[in-house]
Amino acid sequence: MIILLFGPPGSGKGTQAELIKKECNINHISTGDIIREEVKKNTPLSKIIKTEIKNGKLINDKIIVDLIEKYIITNKKILLDGFPRTLEQAEFLSQKNFNIEYIINIKTEKQIIFKRIKYRILKNNKNYNILYNKPKIKNKDNITGEYLIKRPDDLFNIIDKRLKDYYNNLDKILNLYKNKIKIIEINGENNINKIFEEIKINIRKII
Ligand code: AMP
Repeated sequence: MIILLFGPPGSGKGTQAELIKKECNINHISTGDIIREEVKKNTPLSKIIKTEIKNGKLINDKIIVDLIEKYIITNKKILLDGFPRTLEQAEFLSQKNFNIEYIINIKTEKQIIFKRIKYRILKNNKNYNILYNKPKIKNKDNITGEYLIKRPDDLFNIIDKRLKDYYNNLDKILNLYKNKIKIIEINGENNINKIFEEIKINIRKII
């Protein structure tokens, strides 16, 4: 069973995915995290991917499908975060007959996204926010104590491009799923706890 988690960059999707994972004992698969791990490998492929991420571009559909396919194990409960990002990726899921139960769509306005991303810092795929979700010790990861950094693709002009691409693709993807799969819309403009409360009410009905 797969639940798709949609939300623009800065919607708090990653933070919510971690909370859902704990609450529901579900496997969380984030394509962004898989890709960032791939970049660390320093292979010819990772160099291409690194440039694409830095420029705010999506990774080629074939590359991303090859990378993530092995993680989609159908007999497990999966929260799929960051995939599908294009119509072609959605069609890949359909062709494979993966059982998509629900879509959770976190909706957040552009001004709020820019404000959140401006203050976003992270380490090892763990996000913090200087305003809303501070680390216990300034600029350090709560668990490892490593220094928190800014994501290279969190620059203003790159975010603008990522958002345009996101909405452009989202329309096409939702069009494909409309009337076939239940889409749960979540207000992503509240604080972390409130967003999670809203998600919890809905996922209790699902899992
Ligand atoms: P995220 O952490 O989900 O914002 O992903 C970071 C970056 O990884 C994106 O800006 C893309 O370059 C790449 N990426 C993540 N998921 C996908 C996907 N499904 N298709 C293509 N590129 C992706």
